[in-house]
Amino acid sequence: MEKRKINIAIDGHSSAGKSTMAKALAKELNFIYVDTGAMYRAATLFCIKERLVQTNEIDSSKVEVAIDRMYLGFKYNSKSERSEIHLGGVNVEEDIRSMEVSRKVSLVAAIPAVRHKLVDLQQRMAENGGVVMDGRDIGTVVIPHAEAKFFITADPEVRAHRRLREIQVSQPNFQLSEVLSNILERDRIDSNRSASPLRQAKDAIVLDNSQLSEDEQLAFLLTHVRKAIAGA
Ligand code: C5P
Repeated sequence: MEKRKINIAIDGHSSAGKSTMAKALAKELNFIYVDTGAMYRAATLFCIKERLVQTNEIDSSKVEVAIDRMYLGFKYNSKSERSEIHLGGVNVEEDIRSMEVSRKVSLVAAIPAVRHKLVDLQQRMAENGGVVMDGRDIGTVVIPHAEAKFFITADPEVRAHRRLREIQVSQPNFQLSEVLSNILERDRIDSNRSASPLRQAKDAIVLDNSQLSEDEQLAFLLTHVRKAIAGA
C-alpha cells in the first residue's frame, strides 16, 4: 500500500516570506500548496463588497450571517501554473493583494465565524496529506498533527523592504513607512486576537531568515522535511 504523504505547516509573521518558501517546498516535493492568507483576504474582499467593513470597524454580527453566502475556492490556472483563489466563481487573485484589503484583513480574520468556516475548508484540503499550508494558525489549530511544522520570521524592517520591492513594481511611489506600519499592525492584531492567535507551535522549528537567501532557506527546510518524511 502506498504511504500517505505528510503535511507541512508553515506559520509566522506578516511578509516573512512564508508563501515563497511554501511554494518552493510544494514544487520540490510535488505537494499541493494552500495559501490560507489568500482565503482570509478573499473573505475580506467579500466583506468590503457587502459593505460590512468601515475603516477601523466591522459589524461582526452581520458578517456572521453574510458569511453563509460566501463561496470561496481555488482553481488551477495552467497559464500561471498555480491555484488561484476565486470568490463567487470570479478570480480575485489580484484584487485581494490591494492595500485596502491588507488594511482590513486582520479585523475580518479575528471574527470567530470567519475562522470557523475557513478552518473547516482548510482541514478538508489537508485530510489526504501531501499539502504545504501557510498562515498563522496552521501548526496550532488547522493541522496540529502535521508531521513538519515551521515558524518563519525576520526583522520587521527587512520584511517591510522586501514587501515594498514587490509593491513598487506596480506602485513606484509607495512609502516604506506605510508598509512597515501595516506589517506591524497586522502582527499586533493577529497575535492578540482571542480566536486562534498567531502563536509558534511548541514543536515548530523556527527559521529567522533576516540574513538568509532563498536557496539557503529552502535547503534548511528540506533537511527537516526529509527527516519528517523518513520518520512518517
Ligand atoms: O498571509 P497573508 O499576509 O496574506 O495573510 C493576510 C492576513 O490574513 C494576516 O495578516 C492575518 O490577519 C490573516 N490570516 C490569519 N490566519 C491564517 C492566514 C492569514 O488570520 N491562517
